[in-house]
Amino acid sequence: MSTLTNPFEIARETLRLLAVRRIPPSPDNYQTLYHEIAGTKPAGALFPEIQLRSLAAALPKASPDQLRLARQLEEAVKAANWDDYKKYLSDFVAGLAESQKLAWSELIADLLRLWDAKHPGLTSARKRESLEHVLTSNAANPDTLFTRLQSLLRSWGQGKEAEAVNPAEAGNFEISSNSGLTVTTNDLLPELRELFAFTLETAMATQLLESPQLSADAKVLAKDIRTASSPTQLQEFLTRLKRFAFKLELLAEDQAELRHSLLGLLRLLVGNITDLVLDDHWLHGQIEVVREIIDKPLSQRALDDAERRLKEVLYKQSQLKASLSEARDAIKSMLAGFVDHLADFAEATSDYHDKIESCAGKISSATDISQLESVLGEVMRETRTIQINAQRSRDELRITQKKVQESEARITELERELETTSDLVRHDQLTGVLNRRGLEEIFTKEAARATRHETSLCVALIDIDNFKKLNDSMGHDTGDEALIHLATICRETLRPQDTVARYGGEEFIILLPDTPLEDAVIALTRLQRELTKKFFLHANEKVLITFSAGVTQMHPEDMQTSVIKRADEAMYQAKQTGKNRVVHTP
Ligand code: GH3
Ligand code: MG
Ligand code: MG
Repeated sequence: MSTLTNPFEIARETLRLLAVRRIPPSPDNYQTLYHEIAGTKPAGALFPEIQLRSLAAALPKASPDQLRLARQLEEAVKAANWDDYKKYLSDFVAGLAESQKLAWSELIADLLRLWDAKHPGLTSARKRESLEHVLTSNAANPDTLFTRLQSLLRSWGQGKEAEAVNPAEAGNFEISSNSGLTVTTNDLLPELRELFAFTLETAMATQLLESPQLSADAKVLAKDIRTASSPTQLQEFLTRLKRFAFKLELLAEDQAELRHSLLGLLRLLVGNITDLVLDDHWLHGQIEVVREIIDKPLSQRALDDAERRLKEVLYKQSQLKASLSEARDAIKSMLAGFVDHLADFAEATSDYHDKIESCAGKISSATDISQLESVLGEVMRETRTIQINAQRSRDELRITQKKVQESEARITELERELETTSDLVRHDQLTGVLNRRGLEEIFTKEAARATRHETSLCVALIDIDNFKKLNDSMGHDTGDEALIHLATICRETLRPQDTVARYGGEEFIILLPDTPLEDAVIALTRLQRELTKKFFLHANEKVLITFSAGVTQMHPEDMQTSVIKRADEAMYQAKQTGKNRVVHTP
């Protein structure tokens, strides 16, 4: 290996070796040899994006498989993934060879077998004639040629000529698509055929309302499968069904991409709201919850929850904006008034100074007492005017100041009102779980969902034990923290689809959808255990919080009030029988 290090020397040696070895002096050969001499490694070749993209664009896209390949190649180019590109291309070519080999080899084997076999009423000449006819009339299209040949052979197998075949009589045609999917008309029992059509028409078409073209395709396919009777028709149906399935696949990919982008947009929005409301802790908490929800796998429940919380955030934000602009206006008008008064006052005082100066002049030049009297009268008048002016300015300033104080008080009051009585707020401000209004709404939805899916909805009411004592001994604020702790443990321990709501002071309601009663009891008992493990800390002291719970199941005839009443009665029993217990009732 060479020990050259100077680039000029390496270059010269490279050129020399190219000549000696009689290697064509192309850029690639030069580069390879250069690195060989220098003992270095070539820098990673640039991803040939333009060439690969143009190659993908130039490939035919007439069939679903070809379209799929084009899409895969495009993705590989986008990700600059050369390995993927190679894999997609080689898979496609391998698949192509495989499907062709399979279908044609079987067909030719059949042809040979049936050509030699004796068939009543079929002479060799007739066979040759019909074979030639099929070959010449379908020469341009290998797919149809394949199908026609297959039905011809089938008809030979049954001792008839292809043209003479009546599908209804023949009964048992076998048709095959290149994918190897094989269907026999006899297999398509009328019920099955109808079921297939029904699925396409109702299940498929209704799921595709947002893609009218695909929805219409599904309906047409449903109609065709009802009426297709000949092998050719069925073969065509199969080809179109394959194409339809491919389009569905593309649609699913598009929708996944759309969902991804929408979520990205939502995350961006949520992030920006946080920046806008730097100093509102409540809003920060709510936005954090929304962010957590959209970071998890999506479900209708999670989206509903995110929507509700965002609505609250937006509502509160708009209210705060209004309050702030009110406050700004008040302060602006106060400042404007103040500046006006200052100007008036300065004008009046400079006037006053001039007058007093001229009076002083008159006094010093006065020769008798009567002259002094009139000058003094003037001094008194001017002084009184300036006094009145000053008084008026002070009064007006006081009024403006009062107005500002009033509008400040109104803003505070508005904010407090918002925290407590807003129609839109559905979450408890202390613990962040749903409040009664929020519970009512979710309860209605969950009850309807349980009826629709015929699943069991359980309802639990929990009440903290001896909470009054905790408040009395440790203070109300500690009591508040204990409530927050309990709500947090509930959220952490229960499933995402379970609902936690603050029903009253230290009472909470938990909805457990799709849960049999015995499982609901297990869930509540687990919650009790968690609460003893993750204890509440107050001033570095462990405080054990326990609760008593009543659990019941919603029945078709139940109202929200009746089911809560039953849970409450069970909870009362738990209290009566020693507290820190879970009592259930059907
Ligand atoms: P029991 O075990 O029978 O339930 O006894 P208890 O002391 O928990 O029940 P009781 O109904 O006598 O007292 C409930 C207490 O909860 C009274 C009330 O001051 C307190 N409380 C209600 N809401 C709040 C709140 O938001 N914060 C705090 N710190 N205390 C609350
Ligand atoms: Mg209570
Ligand atoms: Mg209590």
